[in-house]
Amino acid sequence: MTGKLVLVGTPIGNLGDMSPRAVEVLTSCDVIACEDTRRTGRLLQLMNIAKRPLVTVNDHTEYDQRDPLLDRVAGGEVVALVSDAGMPGISDPGERLVAAAAERGLPIEVVPGPTAMSSALVLSGLSGERFCFEGFLPRKGKDRSARLAVVAEELRTTVLYEAPHRVVRTLTDLQAACGGGRRVALARELTKMHEEVFRGSLDEALVWAPEHEIGEFVIVLDGAEPAADATDEQLVEALRAELETGRSGRDAVDAVSASTGAARRRVYQLMLALSE
Ligand code: SAM
Repeated sequence: MTGKLVLVGTPIGNLGDMSPRAVEVLTSCDVIACEDTRRTGRLLQLMNIAKRPLVTVNDHTEYDQRDPLLDRVAGGEVVALVSDAGMPGISDPGERLVAAAAERGLPIEVVPGPTAMSSALVLSGLSGERFCFEGFLPRKGKDRSARLAVVAEELRTTVLYEAPHRVVRTLTDLQAACGGGRRVALARELTKMHEEVFRGSLDEALVWAPEHEIGEFVIVLDGAEPAADATDEQLVEALRAELETGRSGRDAVDAVSASTGAARRRVYQLMLALSE
């Protein structure tokens, strides 16, 4: 029999979302690698799946467990990987195990299941045509402010995860970085009894959220407005400013092109005219 690693999505709050294929794999696999043996044991019980051998794979054990689990796959066993909820590998352990399995050329399959990320996105009413997933922002310090600055400039819809007690703080930081008028959706308790979605501006979200800061949340943030096309005068002005900092002509062209989004060729022509 061919061994394989199977990534199995599990419900994010509603047992009805457990797929028949997920049940089949968890019933028939040789071992289940899971974040928390108690949570997964409880899921098996609720789904009437007979007890299976469970191995803990979390941020602390993923490295040590990697080789023994993949040796089992190489030996012909089926190893199922689940997280506490949703898709393993989405802000949950799994990514390193998959990378190591791929490196060893072992078969890897997926049983897709619910994930809070895409569920919130499609409920948000914001554009899902192009979006990016930020997961959890760094909790503090320079890393956090640097990510917030990137998120504020992002033109695509951004999906963020946040712990319930930090939602107001993160909305406050987003308001400071993006301005209070930026549109946002807060998807709360998805697939559970008290599922609820707030849609409005960041200013309005900061009125709503403190009264609803219970349960699990996804923040879906509208993309930034693309900057209006810069005029030739503005580009020349920006080039002069760059040159005054001591940059070479070529570096000034690169910097102005990157900061304004203007085509490099156009900025280069203006630079030539400027130096004549
Ligand atoms: N692997 C999971 C997935 O596929 O969505 C995500 C795990 S991550 C550790 C937990 C975060 O996901 C929570 O802090 C929250 O932002 C989001 N989340 C998970 N379940 C949710 C739900 N039912 N409603 C809203 N957000 C949820």
